[in-house]
Amino acid sequence: MRLFECGSLVPGCDWHTRAENDAEIVRRAVEHMRNTHGETVIRENMIENIKARIANESEAPAH
Ligand SMILES: [Zn+2]
Repeated sequence: MRLFECGSLVPGCDWHTRAENDAEIVRRAVEHMRNTHGETVIRENMIENIKARIANESEAPAH
């Protein structure tokens, strides 16, 4: 499972998302940037910043 935490890009934001693949994470993150952070224009470097912060989530017990 892959995990993206918006707080790693936008300090103070606690939104995060999980998905099986990076493309889905990027899709959701872009949607979040638009809806929550008012990023009406998603620049290429924004996509790169999101991708760079996607992490593998360890198989920890659900909480
Ligand atoms: Zn956010």
